[in-house]
Amino acid sequence: MLITSALLTAALAAAPAPGKAATPADLTPIECSACAEWNVARAPFALHGKSWYVGTEGLSAVLIDSGDGLVLIDAALPQSAPRIAANIESLGFRLTDVKWILNSHPHYDHAGGIAALQRMSGAKVATTARGAQALRLGNAPHDDPQVGFGPQANAFPPVAVVDELADGAALTLGDLTLVMHATPGHTPGGATWSWRSCEGKDCRNLVYADSVTAVSAPGFRYSDDAARVAEFRATLDRVAALDCDLAVSAHPGPTRLFERAAARDAGKAEPAFFDDQSCRDYASFGRDWLDKRLAEEAAKPD
Ligand SMILES: [Zn+2]
Repeated sequence: MLITSALLTAALAAAPAPGKAATPADLTPIECSACAEWNVARAPFALHGKSWYVGTEGLSAVLIDSGDGLVLIDAALPQSAPRIAANIESLGFRLTDVKWILNSHPHYDHAGGIAALQRMSGAKVATTARGAQALRLGNAPHDDPQVGFGPQANAFPPVAVVDELADGAALTLGDLTLVMHATPGHTPGGATWSWRSCEGKDCRNLVYADSVTAVSAPGFRYSDDAARVAEFRATLDRVAALDCDLAVSAHPGPTRLFERAAARDAGKAEPAFFDDQSCRDYASFGRDWLDKRLAEEAAKPD
């Protein structure tokens, strides 16, 4: 029997070394075209008060210290979990101090690391009812615009136990009150989170904003479902209307988070780190994307 050396090397690499445990399934890397670029490590940085960015270059995660335990919003990819864990520890916290892990939307690039970080921390996990169903399944919701990519492509490590929060529900821990805003559109079951952060007398409204992009698998048409389009528009109106001094989007790029942080750290006024237009601007970005998408569909009827 002929075995190529590449295959043999792969087989040897897959086998755990004697005495060394295999990688837990919840840390098995997910492969996608942008995954390596998204997962580049990034040092954590302060947002305001006791809130920090602890995500990677392309996938946001935010840590908030309530004074009585930590809350983590989003966990990126499975392979991002060790990076997020290291960022939390580098801020001087213990992983076991994470009491809650929350999610923006149940796609592998924001929810993929939740199972691993839940296992490492013992935290509880919470999101919308639809989001919770998807997290337990370890896959996108059945009516997700991206479902056509297939169950394999959308799969991520499932989370066994997930609490369901009602739209507008507040989650309180220590001196922190986080409000969940259901933001279906990019994904059914998506959630945006808001909280008030105080640094002495300087208080700011921070928002962890769910994705607002109309992205789908090939063949899906938003315009086939008027109710879905109306729901998406209502979500965008809702995001625009939030009390918001800083929007941190689930992918940091659209809210220019790193650019704002670099300007702040360099003592520059522009782009302002805190900007009460940031949620409105982010909603406009989503609205433009949706309008363009609908125009493309109208120009190409099937
Ligand atoms: Zn997504």
